This record gives sequence, structure tokens and C-alpha cells, in this order.
Amino acid sequence: MDHSRNSVVIDQAALAHNFNQVRSLVGPQVKIMGVVKTDAYGHGLVSVSKALARMAVDCLGVAHFHEAVQLRESGLALPVFILSGIRSREEARAVIEHRLSPVFFDLPTVEIIAEECVRLGKRASIHVKVDTGMGRLGILQKDLVPFLRKVISFKSLDLGGFISHLSSADDPDRCFTNSQIENFADAIETARAMGFDLPLNSLANSAGVMSYPESHFEMVRPGIMLYGGLPSPDFRSPVSLRPVMSFKAAVLQVRNMSEGIPVGYGRTYYTKGDQKIAVISAGYGDGLPRRISNRGQVLIRGRKAGIVGRVCMNLIMADVSAINGLEPGDEAVFLGCQAGSCITGDDVARWAETISYEVFCSIGQRSKRSYGL
Ligand SMILES: *Cc1c(COP(=O)(O)O)cnc(C)c1O
Repeated sequence: MDHSRNSVVIDQAALAHNFNQVRSLVGPQVKIMGVVKTDAYGHGLVSVSKALARMAVDCLGVAHFHEAVQLRESGLALPVFILSGIRSREEARAVIEHRLSPVFFDLPTVEIIAEECVRLGKRASIHVKVDTGMGRLGILQKDLVPFLRKVISFKSLDLGGFISHLSSADDPDRCFTNSQIENFADAIETARAMGFDLPLNSLANSAGVMSYPESHFEMVRPGIMLYGGLPSPDFRSPVSLRPVMSFKAAVLQVRNMSEGIPVGYGRTYYTKGDQKIAVISAGYGDGLPRRISNRGQVLIRGRKAGIVGRVCMNLIMADVSAINGLEPGDEAVFLGCQAGSCITGDDVARWAETISYEVFCSIGQRSKRSYGL
């Protein structure tokens, strides 16, 4: 390992374990879309996608067109869904050519893809986003029938399926999610009554995969659970998930301070007696949330040390008074395990009042990544 820089390590065995947990929850019949948007939640778009392909994932999901093209250029032949759709005629041509599957949520874009199919003498199977309660992208239920009548008129298109998104499946109150599942089933029924096949419908994110078997339909779309994170920090997972990302930095200096010495910007911390303070080589510029100032922890020599003072751009201070034999160059673990103790993305998320998704996205993309088995 290169000790002169911070490192992010991606554990591919943990990824495989988590994928197998998804498979065990949904059974052999339901298809799995591995969601790899935002550089696979900071874990590396192409490396993670290739690893998932080896595990026989059925398809991949990205947010943006350019991510889908990057997957094709890296040689991946799996179906790729573009969850935020396409925005231009050029992109419509490219998705036909690259056999990509954008999600459609308005009529003008459907018209464009239909016309381009006619021009190229091809057919396309499109997936349509319906809004069942997320209040984000999608055809509203009241607009569904007129929308579908239009789709019928485009002879170059088949309707592959509906997609919708759950807003609250991590919530212990199940009422709203149950209504979203019902709305989704109603939308499918409506379309089938109009003569559409709709072979491949998908509603469940990770929380749906874990908490609502009736949300699985023909395909599920797990993201965060593949990476060993939870939909929210206090979510109770029915399966064991293993953290995939770890993030390590180094102790740069260790100093013995006397009582009443201010530490860091804004003097938000003063030593409370004789204290040993370590300065470590990572900060918010390396993706650590600034919100863990004076409240987060870091693992050093297998012990948890409290972060003191404000997180700086590339430095952070920790109280290591209780840890003996510490030296500059010692490993400091912000995510992952050391000598049997662990800090998870959900721990960091709790300290920072966010979700592990954001922790992984920001840490994962800033330091050099390596891929361990
Ligand atoms: C991000 C995303 C997912 C995955 O959600 P997780 O909570 O990470 O499992 C699924 N579907 C859509 C449309 C998404 O945007």
C-alpha cells in the first residue's frame, strides 16, 4: 500500500455477499437491477458494474445518459437503465444505437424516441415512470390513461414496463408504502386492460427489497444495500450486510497538550486537562462530513478516538489520550474495521445527521480507490 496518500478500499467479497442477500430475499424469479449511479455510490462505476456482471446481475441502473455510455464503452453488454431519462434527440439516437434503456416520464420524449426508431427502422421497448406517491418524476395517475392511448399510437414502440419509486419504505409506519404498492398494481392493471403486456415492472429500492416482499413485482432496484449501507441509519435490516468501502488516512503528529488549549478553527474545543491530541491526514476536502466536528470518531490502534475541534479541509484532530504507543504514520480508519472494531457508513451518517449514501458518495470519489478481494 502507498502510505503517502489516503486510501479507499473496496471489498469485492462484501459486495458479492450483499448481492447474494438481495437474491435470497427476492428469490430466483425476480430480476435484479444493480443501481450504480454516482460512480456506484462512490465505489467505482465500471469496477462495481463488472463485479456485479460476474455475479449475474440482470441489469444496471444509472442516473445520467453519460454514465450509461461509459458502461458501454467499458465493454459491458448488460441492459442499462437511465433512471433520469434522456433530454435530446441526439441522446435518443445514441440510446437506440447503444441499446440503452432510458426511463420515460413525458410524452415529448416518447415522441422523439418513436420518431428516431422509425427513421432507423428499429423497434424499442420503453419503460415508463409512473408517480405512485414519491412526488418526483413520473406520469401522475390521473394522466395515465391519456398517456397510454398516445403510446399505443406509436407503432415503433413496445411498453416494457412501469417503474415507480418508494418514498418511505424505511419508515416503520407501513401505511404510505402499502398505498404506493397498491397504486402501482392499479397502474399495471389499467395498462394491461388496455392491451399492454408490461412484462417487467419495478418498484422496490433497498428498503422495499428488505421490508416489502409484495413490492418486488418482476424486478427490484437495490442500491445502498449492495454497498452494505442502510436506507436510513436506524433501519432494522432483516439480513446481514457487509460494508464494502473503507477509508483510511494517517496520523501525522501526536502532541501532549495541557489544560485549556484551543484546538482548531473557531476554538470550538478546549482541552479538558492533560490530553494527547492526534492530527490526522483527512478532512472535508477528502469527503468527511464537516458535521462530524466534535462528535464523530476515528479508529486508531483498534480503539475509537473522539474527533475534537472542527473538521478542516484536509486535517482533523482526535483525542487519543487513552491510546498508548501512538506514532506518526499510524493508520487512522474513518470507515471500515481495525483490530475487530468497526465504523460503518451509518455510524458516520448518524454523527453527521445524514444518510450513508451521502457519506459514500463524498468519500469514495475523492481518494485513490483500490479493489480488494
Ligand atoms: C437510487 C435509486 C434506487 C436505489 O435506491 P436505494 O435506496 O439505494 O436502494 C432505485 N431506484 C431509483 C429510481 C433510484 O433513483
